[in-house]
Order: sequence, then structure tokens, then C-alpha cells
Amino acid sequence: MNIAQLLVRSATVYPTQPAVFFGERCLFDYRTLAARAACIGGYLRNTLGLAPGERVAAFMTNCPEYLEVLYGIWWAGLVAVPVNAKLHPREMAYILANAEASCLFVSADHAADVMPLLDAIPSVKRAFTPGSADYANILKAAPIGLQHRAADDLAWLFYTSGTTGHPKGVMQTHRNLLAMTTCYFSDVDPVDPGDAIVYAAPISHGAGLYNFAHVLKAARHVVPESGGFDTAELVALSARVGRLSMFAAPTMVKRLVEHVAGSGTDPAGFKTIVYGGGPMYVEDIRQALDVMGNRLVQIYGQGECPMCITSLSREQLADRSHPRWLERIASVGVAQSLVEVCVTDTDGKPLPHGETGEILTRGDPVMAGYWHNPEATAKTIRDGWLWTGDLGSLDADGFLTLKDRSKDVIISGGSNIYPREVEEVLLKHPAVREVSVVGRADPEWGEVVVAFVVGSGADAAQLDALCLEHIARFKRPKEYHFLDALPKNNYGKVLKTELRKHFQANQGSKS
Ligand code: AMP
Repeated sequence: MNIAQLLVRSATVYPTQPAVFFGERCLFDYRTLAARAACIGGYLRNTLGLAPGERVAAFMTNCPEYLEVLYGIWWAGLVAVPVNAKLHPREMAYILANAEASCLFVSADHAADVMPLLDAIPSVKRAFTPGSADYANILKAAPIGLQHRAADDLAWLFYTSGTTGHPKGVMQTHRNLLAMTTCYFSDVDPVDPGDAIVYAAPISHGAGLYNFAHVLKAARHVVPESGGFDTAELVALSARVGRLSMFAAPTMVKRLVEHVAGSGTDPAGFKTIVYGGGPMYVEDIRQALDVMGNRLVQIYGQGECPMCITSLSREQLADRSHPRWLERIASVGVAQSLVEVCVTDTDGKPLPHGETGEILTRGDPVMAGYWHNPEATAKTIRDGWLWTGDLGSLDADGFLTLKDRSKDVIISGGSNIYPREVEEVLLKHPAVREVSVVGRADPEWGEVVVAFVVGSGADAAQLDALCLEHIARFKRPKEYHFLDALPKNNYGKVLKTELRKHFQANQGSKS
């Protein structure tokens, strides 16, 4: 089944239900959204002559046209390649060439930088900018009917964040996306037609994947006028639009929580805040629950199994009377309904509860493989199981606690040290805003623990005392580096590879 059938259905059952908002302003209802997608589909197939399965890229800052472009692509039986608009145009060009995209939609803010690069990408026949006369022409094309796609046909080519090396194209099929959407209802949140989703994070990624659940239920899609994450704007939208759900990275949630707490705003306009994509530390979750109430749900996923490995439900987060509540809120929750999750040793042998190993998952949301990269696919999917590259442990109740990416584990004097455990302790210091812990090669110990700290007012001696209070002596950082900010990639993930480069440049203050 073509994923765009979700839009066909909502346009039939709820034609006048408001669909797309720019800020508080409703632009299109469901009937209009589907009609525009059918015209875009008609243009791509009949005017440009694209064949089913060809790739069409979107390099767009969040804008009200984003959804109609995506659905136009699927409507025509084509494959969408949404590229993070925060990438450098050259990084975008790499992705377009790798995907052999036939056509590009680029938002006006990026058009001037991007257009000169397109000559060097022979596959790209045309580029369009929403708001331009060319784009308006597309919407005058004769609409076509929804093109049939098999469930295992490719729908979305999603490029990984590539914290090292080139990004890889994750092949997500219509089946993957439908399964992920089903899990949203069973494991994240029910949706009603009056609900709204606000795209405060890039539509090209996790936030955009949640469009499907909201299209299926004919809910409202709100694109903030800023096109991104602005805490004051979000809070204002929550009050005026209401029943607002969103997906946000932990750093965004932290900023939103601080704003709501600082301004004394009533969070009642928010329905659900789904966080994930990176670790959220216990201190931050507690504060978020205190300030926002029972509005939080955590998910753990990765491009290869988007948004859909485990979830920690609103009820589990709220259950403060549970004897293991603290452990649970530090976990990423339990397997989502349509996937199996296990923790194994390096040979794939399941480990007993409590033991740390690699996290494997399998089920319908797991990607079909990496685009044009059978070697990487064979390394990552073995016997039907996706090897996530994340380390963690399962408890007897099925709760998964993530440790770190396997490559980030520090081995010091033969013992494994999980950076996250040390980071959690350092964050207890009131002056520490952000922290990242990495290993540095050491002739005596193999590796030693080094902490990078953001926040003025904490010194190495205080932090060392805090560690002595909470964790084994051998896990304590041997060095502290104080920074103004942690280096992050365009997805907000801390670049530990960049931090390791500090070793050459800076000696740090020894504890
Ligand atoms: P990406 O494919 O770029 O979305 O990155 C996925 C990776 O982010 C996962 O493999 C995890 O290492 C990390 N991640 C995702 N969700 C969570 C979460 N809820 N808590 C901690 N780390 C997470």
C-alpha cells in the first residue's frame, strides 16, 4: 500500500477538517491538501516524465508547502529524499548525487546557494522553489490518481547523520513507515482529529515522520512561522492553537522547560512532547516532569529503525510511586509493539538480564538496507536482526537501559566505563549545564576518562568530589576541560570525535 493512501482517506472522510497551518493561520483543509498533492504528482509524472521509484529530494527549511511536496512525491509513486536543511549545500549535493535524485524542491532561503551546485549533479533535471512562479505552475498541472505501490517499495530515503564519514542512505519502505505509524498509536500517543502537531524540529527527520499518524487521524499540522524551534513562539502557539504535540531532541525539551518554568506559563496547551534521538539525563527529565506535568513520552530509535525501537510511556514516566521509578526514567522504556528487542554478546548470543551488550532489533519498521551499499547492509542487518551499534541492558520487566554507542565506551585498565554514567553524575552539579565524557589513549591504562564541561562556576576539585560520592573511583575523569559550548552536528548530537581532537590542542586541568 502507498503511504499516501493515508491522505486520500482523510481527504475523503474529513474533507473540511483543517490540515495545514502557518503559525495560527489555517491554509488548507484535507481536501485541498490532497488536491495539491495530486497536482504535484501529476506534474512530476506527466510533465517531467519521472518513472515510479525515481528519487525526488527536498532541501527545505520547514514551510507550509513541505507536506504537499512529500505527499505529491508519494502520490506519483516516487521516492522522497528529505535532506536536513541545516546541512551545508555541499553536503546536500553529496546526498543528491548519491541518491541520483531526478528533481529537487529547495526553499527560497537556500535557493541561491544551491542552484549553482546543481550543474555538477547530472541526475537532477529540475529544481523548484515553493512560492516561485514555477512552483505555482506545478499546482496547475492536471491531477493524477494515487499510484499503487507495493508495501516493500521504497518510500523515503533517509540520510544518516554521519558523525563519521559520509552519510548513508537508509531505505525506508512504505511498510516500514506504516509500521512506525501504527506504533505511534500503540506506544506513543493516541491522536484525534482536533489534535495538532507542531514541526519545531526539521520535517526531514523524526518530527516529519510523525506527520503520518497525524494525517491518518486528520489532525492539524502546524508549521511555526520561524520555521524552527523558538521557545516563546511555541509557547504562544500552544496557548492559541492548543492540543499541540511535538517531537523534540532532549536539548530542545530542556530549553522549552526552562522557558515555561521561567515565564510561569501554563503548559496546558501542550498535549504531548515526545523526546528522543539522544540521551536525556535524569535531572533534566525530573525537571521536565515537574514543569510540564504528565505530557512527556520518550522514544528510542535510529534512522535504520525510525522512531521505533522502544518507548517510555507517559504513564511509566509519571509513575513516581513505582519502587524502580528512577531506574525506569533513566531507561528508554520497553520494546515498541511491532519490534523485538534483544541484547547480545558480539556473536549475537542473547545475554541474561542486567548484562550489557549490543542492542539488536527486528520487525516491520526495520529498514530494507542502505542505498547502493550492500556491504554496510550486510554488516548491519544479520539474520534479519538490525545491529544498532548501541550498547545497553534489559531488565526482567523488559526495560532497556542504553549505555552508549559501542565505539564510545572507554576501556580503562581493562574495565568498561560507560560515558553516560559519568555524565549523569557530573550533571548533578548545579553549575554544569552540559557535559560530554570521552576516552583518551593512555600508555598505562589503555584509555583514561576525560570530561568536557559547559557551565561556569564548577571546578575540577568539586566535580571530582561529586564523582567520589556517586561512582567507582576508576570511573572518575582524570581531566576536565571547560568549554563555552559542546561541538554538535546539524542534528544537535555532540561530536565526540571533535572533542577528542582537543587532546592535541589542550592539556586540560588535571584533577
Ligand atoms: P540517528 O540515526 O541519527 O537518529 O541516531 C540514532 C542514535 O541516537 C541511536 O542509535 C542512539 O545512539 C541515539 N538515540 C536515539 N534515541 C535515543 C534516546 N531516547 N536516548 C538516548 N540515545 C538515543
